[in-house]
Amino acid sequence: MVRVVLATHNAHKALEFQQILGDAVPGLEIVRYDGPEPVEDGSTFAANALIKARAAAEHTGLPALADDSGICVDVMGGSPGIFSARWAGHHGDAEANLQLLLDQLSDMPEGSRTAHFTATLALVVPGEEPVIVEGVWPGSIARHARGGHGHGYDPIFVPEGHDGTAAELGPDVKNRESHRARAFAAIVPALRALAS
Ligand code: IMP
Repeated sequence: MVRVVLATHNAHKALEFQQILGDAVPGLEIVRYDGPEPVEDGSTFAANALIKARAAAEHTGLPALADDSGICVDVMGGSPGIFSARWAGHHGDAEANLQLLLDQLSDMPEGSRTAHFTATLALVVPGEEPVIVEGVWPGSIARHARGGHGHGYDPIFVPEGHDGTAAELGPDVKNRESHRARAFAAIVPALRALAS
């Protein structure tokens, strides 16, 4: 059994990682990190994931995994990007964040509303080079919020190949196709190597 500490204080996230990665990587146990949280002052998703994973690995001496994610709108040069969680000014007000984004894009026609979610994972094993992987979910920004599933920007994100928003499509589609699902799949080989 190899123990990997997950650099999040969020119990829901730890469970999601254990369920998805635990199935894909026999012998992997995800443990939740409860040490000090570093300042996330990186300028990319990868830099922020690495800051969190390094802090958890240094504090515990265990291999550590961290994620960072957000939504990137092409016509806005990739914003909100790393500022997704606090786009409207304060951290974690999902309703205000998505409303501000809708307002900013209100004059933009269909062809100029393309966007993607990104999820980046960093795996830091003490004494080894870090592994960084990224999952991208392409789509576009809807005109209005629709749907009751999910969280964050899901009600305004229409994934490529679908008519509904991520919040209308629900967890089955999301677990199969999302940026996070793709990032999980990409990190599995490195975790299998660690567990073998
Ligand atoms: P964090 O990586 O959990 O801190 O999320 C960063 C920000 O990106 C938050 O505002 C989330 O709402 C947003 N975000 C990341 N992934 C998703 C997603 O799958 N759906 C909706 N919002 C997301």
